[in-house]
Amino acid sequence: MYLYQNEFLPKEQVRISPEDRGYYFGDGVYEVFRVYNGRIFEAEGHYRRLEKSARDTRIALPYPIPQLNERLVELIRLNELDEGIVYMQMTRGEAPRSHPFPQAEPVLMAYCSPLARPLQTMEKGIRAITMDDIRWLRCDLKTLNLLPNVMAKQHAIDQGADDVILHRSGVVTECSASNFMIVKDGVVRTHPANHLILHGITRDVVIRLAGQLSIALQEEPFTLEDLHTADEAFLTSTTQEVMPVISVNGEPVSSGQPGPVTRKLQQAFQQLIS
Ligand code: PMP
Repeated sequence: MYLYQNEFLPKEQVRISPEDRGYYFGDGVYEVFRVYNGRIFEAEGHYRRLEKSARDTRIALPYPIPQLNERLVELIRLNELDEGIVYMQMTRGEAPRSHPFPQAEPVLMAYCSPLARPLQTMEKGIRAITMDDIRWLRCDLKTLNLLPNVMAKQHAIDQGADDVILHRSGVVTECSASNFMIVKDGVVRTHPANHLILHGITRDVVIRLAGQLSIALQEEPFTLEDLHTADEAFLTSTTQEVMPVISVNGEPVSSGQPGPVTRKLQQAFQQLIS
């Protein structure tokens, strides 16, 4: 079952207009929620981010967050989802193609899908390559305009890697669909939560966990040079959790194995969700 506006419908009955602004312009915002044991993980953080994306793009939520939450909980129940994700997007609505904001009702759609935790990949780690971050200057908004992210991910795959580490003139920002952190001399470093990165919910969780574990963490810009000499590297996201990055541009990160700080954070994350 899908949630479409205020109704629960089978996918076949969800009808989106060819004049939807999401289709023409990518004019919409979205969220991906993680579901563990049938419950939304870190729901508040996701709703806060959705409210900000909606406010700054001036797309009105069709109903208040508590009602949206009720509907998403009902969606999970109807689909008997135990472990997976809820994808939710909201576009500015349907109108003849023209740039100015139309008088239109936003179109909200959400669905669930089962998704297992990437346990084996988290054990082994992934390979990344670096790439110019060519995105716009509001990467903090979770909008449907993901062409640069999609192209970056495909570039990684074309090069035989798993993901990209993006940088602006040598300053590392994040990955194609995740935040990025390095560890040097026991200190975790990650780009500050400003307009150049998405403020990841998993990033926030990891910052919290680092605090609880007395692991030092700096939200300061760092460079490709710092990455090159890092002891450990990992990315964070709703679906990838705490994912070790074991090589960059074909060179191993330190020993080429997931490091001890990454492992500690993975264990703490595991405890938090179980
Ligand atoms: N950065 C980008 C560009 C993303 O698309 C995502 C979400 N997949 C993240 C970071 C991680 O955010 P979250 O932890 O909330 O999934």
